[in-house]
Amino acid sequence: MSGRVIGIDFGTTNALCAWLDAGRTVIIPNERGARFTPSVVSYAPGGEVLVGESAKNRAIAAPADTVRAVKRLLGTRTSLQVGGRALRPEDVAAELFAKLRSDAERFLGFPVESAVVTVPASFSDAQRRSLREAAALAGLDALRLVNEPTAAALARAWLDRQKPGADTLVLVYDFGGGTFDVTVLRSRGSACEVLASAGDDRLGGLDIDAALYAEVAAAFSRDYGLDAEGDLFLSQQLWDLVERAKIELSSRESTEIVMPFMGPGGALSHPSFTVTRRRLEDLARPFVERTVHLTAEALRTAKVEPAELGALVLSGGSSRMPLVGELLAHLVRRAPESRVNFEEIVASGAAVEAAIVSGDAEGFAVRDVASFSYGVEIEGGACAVLVQRNESLPARKRRVFTTIADGQDTVEIHVIQGEGKKAGDNLSLGRFLLAGVRKARRGEPRILVEFAIDESDLLRVRAKDLDTGAEQRVVVSGSGSDDAAKLALLATRVAELSARTVLESGLADELEEAVAAARKAVSEGDAASRAEARAVLEALAGELFAARDDGVSRRTGLGVAGGAR
Ligand code: AMP
Repeated sequence: MSGRVIGIDFGTTNALCAWLDAGRTVIIPNERGARFTPSVVSYAPGGEVLVGESAKNRAIAAPADTVRAVKRLLGTRTSLQVGGRALRPEDVAAELFAKLRSDAERFLGFPVESAVVTVPASFSDAQRRSLREAAALAGLDALRLVNEPTAAALARAWLDRQKPGADTLVLVYDFGGGTFDVTVLRSRGSACEVLASAGDDRLGGLDIDAALYAEVAAAFSRDYGLDAEGDLFLSQQLWDLVERAKIELSSRESTEIVMPFMGPGGALSHPSFTVTRRRLEDLARPFVERTVHLTAEALRTAKVEPAELGALVLSGGSSRMPLVGELLAHLVRRAPESRVNFEEIVASGAAVEAAIVSGDAEGFAVRDVASFSYGVEIEGGACAVLVQRNESLPARKRRVFTTIADGQDTVEIHVIQGEGKKAGDNLSLGRFLLAGVRKARRGEPRILVEFAIDESDLLRVRAKDLDTGAEQRVVVSGSGSDDAAKLALLATRVAELSARTVLESGLADELEEAVAAARKAVSEGDAASRAEARAVLEALAGELFAARDDGVSRRTGLGVAGGAR
């Protein structure tokens, strides 16, 4: 592995990078020296793509060209119409990853090609895959995806790694911009074991912003005739003002939202609206109550009484709201720890995991749990669970099934994820066929199904007829089957490498074409077209490597066997 592995907290509102430097977790500042980069991408005319702070600034003037909170769209088939282009969420997220990567390389002074990326525990398989693909498009191999609260616990455990044997039950409450996650862990010296997690990937500070926005927009419309809804520019400005007011109300009792506004005839007016903390808390209460409810659920699943908790760790910017402390105190009577900054703890944990992955944190380990149950569909549409939610990872589970019809020689394995009793209530991860099953009366053949889930919650499935030995393996997700992510990564690597190599022009053109075709296959193609694009790219990459070894392109025509001397 060249370069080093970094940790990335890919947040809905902000993203952070960190790494482990001489045993300390260090936040990697961006190009502007800031410790975090807003997760905003703006597409300027002429093809320029702005990312981070500058995109956030541009969002006000050009809201239609700007994408925020793309993390919420990962794993969906949304087509974003931005700056006159149709983009997939992965394409937009890839711009963010590319920026994080180049800023990290600038700061560290060495190439960065792999990362550990944190994800909400509640992220589905499709969301995880989509995130991996976005990273790959930016040339970053997301070696491992770590659940955000687990990362927060890991950062904390890292600080305590010198304390031998301390056995503590830890609750991590992570309330960010777009998601809420809660995890209960047991931390014992250098080992850290997740007991249970719960969360909602559609619950965060943005929802509170939205509630306040609706109220303020209605007031401005009623009192001043300002129509924010019909005016993208105004509405964008109001979103920013509302978020700022919300943040301010964490430390003040009341604040003013003032909207600089050019009235008819160019007269500048300053319509304003006062928001009190009490009013904000009325609006935020249902959301915060839901987080407390999920926290109680996680404690129940972990079979931990609130009084047994030895530490409460808060993370995510929304945890700074006084209402959070107040409502959480009804359940957990313990003051939160404040050793690691709320906004940085997840990134610090990603850095620790990155060190674990690269073998630089020897002896330090974390055991996570499955965020979902996984199983197969059986007769009558029911779901037979193999791996239970909250089971320790990595997990390997087997069960023997059989046929449902006489003489049946092929079985369909329908892999599902979720907690519903019926297969139809859950997420379908894929179907595959096992042929070559021994022909016999129904119920006689013995078909072994094995599920193996790695630390990133990625699933491999194997089905085998124990009598005939016929076998079928599929990687439902994960690096093995993640052909889109793999192809995206290969394309980016090849493009980067060829830009740095002096090439004979024919080869350079072919490489460029093959990279473009590969990227097209990633975004629009099916598995077959991806396989084809990959074969072409791999063949050309072979030539590219040969050219690099020689320092020049050594492409020549075919030789004639035994040809002229
Ligand atoms: P994160 O995803 O951890 O970066 O959290 C970002 C979210 O936290 C955004 O919704 C912010 O508006 C919110 N936030 C940040 N600081 C505060 C604060 N002091 N009070 C309330 N919300 C905050």
